[in-house]
Amino acid sequence: MASIEMRNIVKQYGDGYPAVNDVSLDIADGEFMILVGPSGCGKSTLLRMIVGLEDITSGDMVIGGKRVNDLAPRERNLSMVFQNYALYPHMTVFENIAFPLRLSKTPDDEVRRRVMEASDVLELKEHLERKPANLSGGQRQRVAMGRAIVRQAEAFLFDEPLSNLDAKLRGQMRTEISRLQRRLGITTVYVTHDQTEAMTLGDRVCVLRKGKIQQVASPRELYEQP
Ligand code: ADP
Ligand code: ADP
Repeated sequence: MASIEMRNIVKQYGDGYPAVNDVSLDIADGEFMILVGPSGCGKSTLLRMIVGLEDITSGDMVIGGKRVNDLAPRERNLSMVFQNYALYPHMTVFENIAFPLRLSKTPDDEVRRRVMEASDVLELKEHLERKPANLSGGQRQRVAMGRAIVRQAEAFLFDEPLSNLDAKLRGQMRTEISRLQRRLGITTVYVTHDQTEAMTLGDRVCVLRKGKIQQVASPRELYEQP
């Protein structure tokens, strides 16, 4: 678990207006931070700079007290859950969840232990031998989260993870994510367009506009003000 501190973060693509323009934000250890704002305001770019998939033009990204600007994604020990799940169709649920552990050459018995633990929390134990094509949308989302959990990452990053699901599943997954995050107490940054998600999941909500922070507030302050 780790705090995430952003200090005067700038991202400049080409020579246009900066996509992220001098963002400073402290996310506490174990905090659930929501990022909202209109399309194109820089949410995904910010998330990708945290995880290391995008270079930072200037500023400092500090995770768990350590400056990570020059670290590759794998060295940051974070887990990102994408909207499109990114599961491997030819692998079973077990192997999909185990994948990051296979990459890091974790011993078999340890892989088995951690996958069982994650699939227990996510109620996926009965589906471990199935392939993604035979799962529901919600189950696939849980597999993607299982993969994030087994890494024992310092933080979770979500980029609109529920936007492809129908309303019922979205509600279920919202509850699931909330329960899981509380149980694990893991620092989370979550991009969404959905006000209900922001309200129910977030400790705080950061509103971005044209690459700048417009407001940081609790969901209550933000959505229930007169
Ligand atoms: P959001 O996630 O809030 O919709 P993005 O972070 O995707 O916003 O985009 C922020 C701005 O940066 C937009 O103006 C977008 O067009 C621009 N942008 C994003 N990715 C790239 C890229 N790879 N190259 C050039 N411009 C980009
Ligand atoms: P390369 O394999 O070209 O060196 P990187 O080091 O940039 O690529 O990224 C590959 C590693 O980073 C993988 O082991 C993967 O686990 C991790 N990684 C890549 N993207 C993400 C992401 N979105 N979230 C978490 N980890 C990631």
